[in-house]
Amino acid sequence: MEVIQTVAAMQAHAEARRREGRRLALVPTMGALHEGHLTLVSAARCHADHVTVSIFVNPTQFGPGEDYARYPRQLARDVAALEALGVDVVFAPSVAEMYPEGPEANLTWVYVERLDAHLCGRYRPGHFRGVTTVVAKLFNICKPHVAVFGLKDAQQFQIIRRMVRDLHYDIELIGVPTVRAADGLALSSRNAYLTPEERTQAVVLSQAIEAAQQAIRQGEQRVEAIVEAMRQTLARAPLARVQYAEVVDAETLQPVDRIMPGQQVLIGVAVFFGQTRLIDSAFVEVP
Ligand code: AMP
Repeated sequence: MEVIQTVAAMQAHAEARRREGRRLALVPTMGALHEGHLTLVSAARCHADHVTVSIFVNPTQFGPGEDYARYPRQLARDVAALEALGVDVVFAPSVAEMYPEGPEANLTWVYVERLDAHLCGRYRPGHFRGVTTVVAKLFNICKPHVAVFGLKDAQQFQIIRRMVRDLHYDIELIGVPTVRAADGLALSSRNAYLTPEERTQAVVLSQAIEAAQQAIRQGEQRVEAIVEAMRQTLARAPLARVQYAEVVDAETLQPVDRIMPGQQVLIGVAVFFGQTRLIDSAFVEVP
């Protein structure tokens, strides 16, 4: 396994593999890898014969007051885990390599309009612009045929899908279902911030998603009632501060009042435990 740290070396490596006829997959991450990330790597293996995992904590997707500075960084451990999985390349650039003039001086952005108006985008202005910009850069650097993302970040997945379509990227996107702990909590690098008490209570996120799915299965079409079921579930955790509990159309990511049979919807929650912000979501086809 090679660890590549410069854009030029990564581009040269990817170009050489392409000339050999290899099919390249990219798994973009911010590191602090857990079983969820490793499942993405396995999915990448199924769709390609060369797997690159990028590890880059992207400053332009963090807002002021968010956890950029304290985001867990453990490159040596991550590299060891990826080597054991048979990954071909770890691309781990510095901030200066990705933003030579500094992130604040960046002038070129990739922004997918409208799809960030609700869910996380509403509360994290500029976040998805940072994500789509860095993913576009990573596509141009790692030159993948296939890119693998987690459906845990459902809004991110839909926004990147739209970017790929609108910009005619010749890249196949693979979405991997959320990998969970035994009690249902979606695995996340940010779970490491939780106190034991918060960790116990964090189970309410997946329970809220499940409550919404159950309400929908039972034929509830009023979004107000579905959201109420989610909020009641979240209220079982005294330490939880709910940022949002929403049901939106899965394509437009706009809120709906009533869900319609056959419609694809996205249910999402974001909850703070102290300074730690956790999200969960699910795509549901209305029966
Ligand atoms: P991150 O390092 O948090 O930026 O995540 C990198 C990729 O891993 C993203 O595509 C995430 O959606 C995905 N991911 C993170 N956690 C999970 C999980 N629990 N299950 C599946 N995919 C995940």
